[in-house]
Amino acid sequence: STAIPSVPAATSPSATVHIDLGERSYDITIAAGLLADPASFDGLPRAAVAVIVTNTTVEPLYGQRLRDCLAGRFPAIHTVVLPDGEDHKDWNTLNTVFDALAAHGCDRKSVLFALGGGVIGDMTGFAAACFMRGIPFVQVPTTLLAQVDSSVGGKTAVNHPAGKNLLGAFYQPLQVVCDLSTLATLPPREMSAGLAEIIKYGPIHDMDFLAWIETNLEALRAGDTAALAHAVRRSCEIKAEVVGADEREAGLRAILNFGHTFGHAIEAGVGFGVWLHGEAVGCGMVMAATLSQRLGLVDAAFVARLRTLVERAGLPVVAPRIDAADNEGRYLELMRGDKKSEGGEIRFVLIDGPGRAVVRPAPDALVRSVIADCCA
Ligand code: NAD
Ligand code: MG
Repeated sequence: STAIPSVPAATSPSATVHIDLGERSYDITIAAGLLADPASFDGLPRAAVAVIVTNTTVEPLYGQRLRDCLAGRFPAIHTVVLPDGEDHKDWNTLNTVFDALAAHGCDRKSVLFALGGGVIGDMTGFAAACFMRGIPFVQVPTTLLAQVDSSVGGKTAVNHPAGKNLLGAFYQPLQVVCDLSTLATLPPREMSAGLAEIIKYGPIHDMDFLAWIETNLEALRAGDTAALAHAVRRSCEIKAEVVGADEREAGLRAILNFGHTFGHAIEAGVGFGVWLHGEAVGCGMVMAATLSQRLGLVDAAFVARLRTLVERAGLPVVAPRIDAADNEGRYLELMRGDKKSEGGEIRFVLIDGPGRAVVRPAPDALVRSVIADCCA
């Protein structure tokens, strides 16, 4: 079982999670105050030019802190400020990043810095993967979701009208710097969305961690640094373990999608952006746990326990109706169209006993009963 680590101060040594991917290995550093300390970026290669990619919300909050940190390391530092929002995670916006890189005379050694949430991280990573066939980049995630999920694992992408994250690449950063102090300005709804992805790691991999989250949920929601440090570190460790075993999602990595199959149907069904991704995942986990129970894999107490925690995290536990005439049919249709489906067969991430996930199909009739009972 896990203990809360002591409060990391700006000057204290930071927690480090090593991502072991052979020559693409890198470290995630986690502490409060990392953006106040240029040493947070020790170990990066020297280069003439650094380019920070951020957005209109994060730039005024943390842009100058990052520039101050990097000033002694890079002779020229440019900042590209993108419009905020998932709506702008597209090819046109990505192209403005390429335009800036070209205009600033970037070369193969130039280093990109992704300063922001998962949208900025995914776009910057993809820009780095494409420019001159791949230049170094560093993740500086500033949302809870980005610190525990999107900045780890090397998936980068932009959206296309035909699908979310349709265009992308596997491309690993040189380093991930998680400054917990940046979470102080994150809206509560975004904090809750990040908590969904943290809770996710418990049922699929580590029930001790789930119990720790249950004990420390109020501290996490209140932004307690020691609690956040442990939650971010443990989440990154679990994701690192899973990704290390399956970098390109041949199999095991799919368990990280617990709650996501139902969640994606919710997001798409109500219209993207109406529910935050983490909100849909929270509710989707309750639905997936319910399906697991109906398949005889876990008991009702397990489902109730998860539902209680999701609700305490400030996340919805009752699914929305997404079609007046045929609600269950519409859910099934959306889940069949999901990128993770194979040949129209929905692959559910289910809990096969607490702390263990399994990926398998389920009978339509059972899935329909779960949707009917979980919906408003
Ligand atoms: P986001 O990047 O849109 O950030 C949420 C909001 O918070 C934005 O308005 C942002 O400007 C703002 N913000 C960011 N940091 C802030 C701060 N410190 N203080 C105040 N406001 C701040 O959303 P997200 O939840 O971080 O990421 C979602 C994206 O991540 C999606 O596009 C999703 O596809 C992607 N994602 C990728 C992976 C992966 O493995 N690559 C995994 C999960 C999610
Ligand atoms: Mg997710």
